[in-house]
Amino acid sequence: MKIQINQLGYTADMKKVALLRDELAEELQVFNQAGALVMTLPVDVKRTEIWGDLVAEVDFSALQEPGMYTLRCGAESSWPFPVGERPYQACLTALVDMFYYQRCGDDLDERAGVFAHPACHTGLARVYGTEEWREVNGGWHDAGDFGRYIVPAAKAAADLLLAWQWNPAAFEKPGLTPVLEETRYELEWMLKMQREDGGVYHKVSCARFCGMIMPHEEQEELIISPVSTTATGDFAACMAMASRYYAKIDTTFADRMLAAAKRAWDFLAVTEPILFRNPEGISTGGYGDRDDADERLWAHVELALTCGEEKYLTAAREAILRSDRCHAPLGWGDMRGYAAVEGLGLPGELGEICRRWVLEAADDLLTRINVYGITMTERLPWGSNMNISNDGMLFHQAWLLTGAEKYREAAWKQLHYLLGVNPVDTCYVSGFGTRPMARPHHRPSVALGVCQPGMLSGGACSGLADACAREHLQGQPAGKCFIDMHESYSTNEICVYWNSPMVALLAGLTK
Ligand SMILES: [Zn+2]
Repeated sequence: MKIQINQLGYTADMKKVALLRDELAEELQVFNQAGALVMTLPVDVKRTEIWGDLVAEVDFSALQEPGMYTLRCGAESSWPFPVGERPYQACLTALVDMFYYQRCGDDLDERAGVFAHPACHTGLARVYGTEEWREVNGGWHDAGDFGRYIVPAAKAAADLLLAWQWNPAAFEKPGLTPVLEETRYELEWMLKMQREDGGVYHKVSCARFCGMIMPHEEQEELIISPVSTTATGDFAACMAMASRYYAKIDTTFADRMLAAAKRAWDFLAVTEPILFRNPEGISTGGYGDRDDADERLWAHVELALTCGEEKYLTAAREAILRSDRCHAPLGWGDMRGYAAVEGLGLPGELGEICRRWVLEAADDLLTRINVYGITMTERLPWGSNMNISNDGMLFHQAWLLTGAEKYREAAWKQLHYLLGVNPVDTCYVSGFGTRPMARPHHRPSVALGVCQPGMLSGGACSGLADACAREHLQGQPAGKCFIDMHESYSTNEICVYWNSPMVALLAGLTK
């Protein structure tokens, strides 16, 4: 299809823009389900050359009557799509349910359908290089593999907490996974990863990735990789943040998290940077980093917010004033974006600086938006759909601060791209849309020959970082470097911390 729409559809009153690729027609026709022509609209005369196509926009916001429709332009047509109420609610539910499917160490019951399996990875894990064994059961499998890593876990948990903060009602509807309950499953595991001196182990996994098997079939020895200060900083920040959310629900749990955050912070205060690299013999996800200043900054901000104590405020002040600019995304490696968004709640000048950081970052992103609405054109990194969701979160935060429509519109564009307004004509969430991603690099899906629903694909990756991508995508423009095959882990893996920003974006936008 060369007419790109949000495959999940639209609400009656929202702005609706379709993109046409290589289409010279001047008019767009709208047909209803019965095949009757209901509207004819002009195609924007402007054509934008991008990723090998000439792309034109068509605004069909005038279409407001609930129903199923198809757009036609010359010989091309769109997928049928609905206009109606709450077109994204089922998708949001599934994106949150994904975290249940990713649970480790739990008997997955009928909620997981054919993906139900006995508890996995329940044995003791050996601390790398020692004969010490620890119980670190629980948490979510990180991605298409079964490792559990603190750094991305902190991002995923923070995103789900922000999602709940932005729109708690989105998660209170019947049938929806209680998002705080699910997040707690991860937080409880993270607490087990803290050493007695406050340092936090970077990850637990087997020595190497297993084959395409179910989680409980992976029986190799579990190894706890060494402590890093990036994991410890993220842990301190995430625990201090989470303790505020759970304070009214379960005081004991909130206190336990805050005490753990303080111990991690104390560890950081007397510890030089320990940047993680896979130790010899371990080849699972590394989540390495070039410096830990941003993890420390985020930790200072969260502890200052939660405790208000002078020592944390002083540390936050010093760290914030040290960096005069903060065009940082909400990533897993660079946590300055989280420090900025969370730091909005700090008193006085510090809160003002964070506000400036958020708006400068959002404005900077706005200048880079292309006709598809996303901020990356020449190069799309591994997991680009995470960056797109992250950008959407930042735009949403900027809109919350200012009410400026330009941010709101930009946030929606990120969502439309993920759900079908992209040059590969794909809804990047499995199980949703007319042409969903269906063959992810995800071990249970491959093992069972069924695609688990509600997972966001990593999406286009112009680096062609696996053999399958190199075989099939050589010479493709950046935005089209995607292939829906499980062998292509660089374009079609899934991750908890890719789903999480999309949950936050969707929750924020649908309030
Ligand atoms: Zn497991």
